[in-house]
Amino acid sequence: MDLFEPVEGLKGVGPKTAEILKKYGIRTVRDFLYNLPRDYESYQAVTSIAEMRPGKVVVRGKIDSLTSRKARRRNLTVTEGVIRDNTGAVKVVWFNQSYRIRQFLPDKEYYFTGSYELKNGRYSLISPSVAEVADIDMSSGLNPVYVAHGSLKSHDFRRLMANSRDRFVDIPDLLPSVKPDTRKKALFYAHFPSSVQMVGKAREYLAYEELFELILASRLNRRENEKLQAEKVPFVAEKVKGLVGSLPFTLTGAQRRAAWDIFQDMEREVPMNRLLQGDVGSGKTMVAALAAYEVAVAGHQVALLAPTAILATQHFEGLSKVLEPLGVRVALLTGATKGKKELKMRILAGEVDLVIGTHAILTDDTEFARLALVVIDEQHRFGVEQRQKLMMKSPSGLAPHLLAMTATPIPRSLQLTVFGDLDVSILDELPAGRQAIATSIITEVETKERLYPKMQEIMAATPDTKGRGRKMRGQQIYWICKAIENADGASGGEKGARSGKGAGGGPGGTSEIISVKRRCKRLQEVFPRAKVEFLHGKMKPAEKDAVMERFAEGEIDILVSTTVVEVGVDVPNATLMVIENAESYGLAQLHQLRGRVGRGASAAYCYLLTSGDEPPSRRLKELERSNDGFHLAEVDLKLRGPGEIYGALQHGALDLRIATLADTKLIARARKDVERFLQKPENMLQYKELMRGITKYQQITTLN
Ligand code: ADP
Ligand code: MG
Repeated sequence: MDLFEPVEGLKGVGPKTAEILKKYGIRTVRDFLYNLPRDYESYQAVTSIAEMRPGKVVVRGKIDSLTSRKARRRNLTVTEGVIRDNTGAVKVVWFNQSYRIRQFLPDKEYYFTGSYELKNGRYSLISPSVAEVADIDMSSGLNPVYVAHGSLKSHDFRRLMANSRDRFVDIPDLLPSVKPDTRKKALFYAHFPSSVQMVGKAREYLAYEELFELILASRLNRRENEKLQAEKVPFVAEKVKGLVGSLPFTLTGAQRRAAWDIFQDMEREVPMNRLLQGDVGSGKTMVAALAAYEVAVAGHQVALLAPTAILATQHFEGLSKVLEPLGVRVALLTGATKGKKELKMRILAGEVDLVIGTHAILTDDTEFARLALVVIDEQHRFGVEQRQKLMMKSPSGLAPHLLAMTATPIPRSLQLTVFGDLDVSILDELPAGRQAIATSIITEVETKERLYPKMQEIMAATPDTKGRGRKMRGQQIYWICKAIENADGASGGEKGARSGKGAGGGPGGTSEIISVKRRCKRLQEVFPRAKVEFLHGKMKPAEKDAVMERFAEGEIDILVSTTVVEVGVDVPNATLMVIENAESYGLAQLHQLRGRVGRGASAAYCYLLTSGDEPPSRRLKELERSNDGFHLAEVDLKLRGPGEIYGALQHGALDLRIATLADTKLIARARKDVERFLQKPENMLQYKELMRGITKYQQITTLN
């Protein structure tokens, strides 16, 4: 069986269905088989309507009296009906699922699984999922639930799967390290579950398979990398000493070690592929500066890529100050740069040593004379593709050395496995004299007496000497606004948690704007003499930059913002941060956010604002107690498991569908088996499907 055959080859998949499937990334038979149920419903616990109790229920019955109407609230369609069994009747309601009106046949029996609750003064069954009784294999009583893809609903997937049931026997094995037929059985039981135990086993195998692929891909990436050629950059001790000696501070031991790792890497003609991991404020930029200097001394060029123009500008200002006196020619290249054409000519002519800009450098027509090092600050993905683009930007045809920097701590077990293609240096030491950020948990009712006076005090305090702003009157404040879970109250019953994957901005865009604006207005009322402005993710990049620039200059006293200020911004005169609704963020994210203050010489404060409905969580208490990102990451790992922390990474950058990074035992097993697999080079030829399937992982992934 050719698993890479297009989905049209499946029974019941016409051109229209195929088109929808493809839109959701299901192109081949293989994709279709690996589109696993997101959940399983059990029909062993069917209740009669007369005996229903509030909460989650399953009832079995026929449905009639279906109507659909637009609710008073915009964008909400309410579909209602009555379910009957031989003990009674119950009202059923769906929101924004108007297709329900055409779904049912009058004489057919269905299972309805949903929540039985009080709504508008009446008990109803709310947004139940539906399965046709005739479709359910009662021998197991388990029904797979699929994520809806456009007009293809869960039951459509069940039907399509049932059509292909006889094809499962043809599924070939994929991996050498497990018993024959394990794969076909696993896929079969995942889609046609016979018991909870079988589902568990099936998913465990499929998770293992996924991890095997991921780890294998990362190993092969490393091999590919070793085959590439890079510019050799010699280590010149007296030059480095010169730079180090010119700094207004001494490097930390960790910075020295990391720089040394990098110097050694760059002396080889194999391209460096290194991740520099260090807590906020640990001084990653200075390590990058040392590397950049070394490259400039050798007569080659460096590109430093930042996620935003603001950060690029900051890096430009900081690095120019350090490197230009030593003769390094530094240039800033962003959308707002004037005289771009001329600058690009100079870059091409080799008259610029260090180019600092955003990712746009990769996509536009910038060409280099001798690009030998690329530094990527706080970025998620940097793939083979991007690297190839960079190679093409350098006429030598050599691959540049690569240094990625991130503040996200990665546990060692993951470093060795999932990120096996990267070498890692860790900055586990903060510069001397760095002050801990005094963190306090306070409840909303305490704002007036505990928080507002503190804010007043900060705004009246002497500006921080490290700040470069010219218009500073006092010290400044960040106010981070409520994270909002979901803008649309109606629960999309069959949407599934995963359907939001890769949604960068997060849900609830418009309500976030509303809450930012509302808070801004409120604070302006409380502090009439202060300059209060807001920042949110939906603003145009140029608008955002302008606000950030004014904040850095000291023109704004209180910046009300969503989490868009999270990454890297450096305004040393901002010394107080308030995080509203602190409970709704992960520990790691809170720590990152908090890292925006405490960058100057003055004392810094962070207030974690909670509703006060419940006692503060262990998470917030740990944050109050500790300023150490690595310690906090470990605590978070224990408290929530890696699934939560690395969720975005898992489903976004790594694209794991079944496995989670919490499966440490499974990861260890897969890693060993990959090792064994790679010992026999003929495996690469023999296991064709495996090799073909892993191409999606063939990118160098970093995270943040
Ligand atoms: P991050 O690792 O979060 O990117 P930065 O590179 O922005 O941190 O450094 C934070 C601040 O610390 C900068 O103002 C930088 O100049 C300063 N810094 C870096 N290294 C040292 C050091 N060894 N001693 C004192 N200050 C340092
Ligand atoms: Mg940084």
